Amino acid sequence: MATVPFSFEVYPPRSSDAAPALFEAIDKLSSLGPRFISVTFGAGGSDTKNSIEVLDYILKKDVRALAHLTCAGTTRSSIEKLISEFEAAGVSDFLALRGDLPAGQEQLPEEALSTAADLVSILKKRSGSIGEIAVAAFPNGHPESGIERSDIDALLAKQAAGADYAITQLFFYANDYFDFVSLARARGVNIPILPGIMPITSAKRLERVLELTGERNPIELSDALSTAQNNSERIEIGIDWAAKLVSELISGGAPGVHLYAFNEHERVTEVLRRAELV
Ligand code: FAD
Repeated sequence: MATVPFSFEVYPPRSSDAAPALFEAIDKLSSLGPRFISVTFGAGGSDTKNSIEVLDYILKKDVRALAHLTCAGTTRSSIEKLISEFEAAGVSDFLALRGDLPAGQEQLPEEALSTAADLVSILKKRSGSIGEIAVAAFPNGHPESGIERSDIDALLAKQAAGADYAITQLFFYANDYFDFVSLARARGVNIPILPGIMPITSAKRLERVLELTGERNPIELSDALSTAQNNSERIEIGIDWAAKLVSELISGGAPGVHLYAFNEHERVTEVLRRAELV
């Protein structure tokens, strides 16, 4: 069996009722031998305590835990304090993100950090035991990046500040990833770029992620999901699409795959099984 690294993303439970199912999913995902499991931060109203609880659970499974950290609108001293809290919980690997300002807050407060590269520099300069630093990348461009692809300038700035590798936003076609990697390499990015893949198993979820990410609608997938007869057919379509994408990425030379797990294990496990990675 191929030893291609794979990893997962989960988010902190939105209520205490949802916690047992998440921990069970982490048990199952951990048993597959992922390179790491990452935990989102700030999105969907989660707080630091929630994130740390999930990260702690992952570490106790002997799996590397990657803590997402956002910095937009935060001062240097408060982010330093936050990093210390994560470190005290045994977390040493971070995904350094800018994050988005809360709706209605167009201006950053004075002294606030404004880019993910600022956060990478802060992590890099700490005297503690910081492990790997990941950053975000956008195969089809960040919604703010325009035709000059300023997201690639941002990626270069994050690399220069000391990022070890990048994880991509979700995308739907292998060529989106390969074309992006070629463009990024041509502009001087040399860190590994790990593709992020989300199995999408309903038209409603597809609509929601397109809204959140600004990605283009993958017409074939959206047509198939909206004309499917029932739920099991939709699940089959979503898993199959993601598994084919994973296979194409790996055979084209991607350094591994990062799967957005949506806090459940069955679909992503099936994706990896069909792509013959587990
Ligand atoms: P930055 O890298 O700082 O860049 C943002 C944009 O600013 C760039 O695309 C570019 O247009 C411009 N820019 C920045 N620096 C430069 C420069 N030097 N030169 C020119 N232009 C520049 N959000 C959350 O709130 N919580 C999460 O847990 C979370 N997890 C994520 C995980 C992944 C894998 C990804 C891909 C995204 C995630 N996000 C999360 C979303 C992310 O916070 C947003 O996409 C945010 O808008 C941008 O963050 P960034 O780290 O890419 O920002």
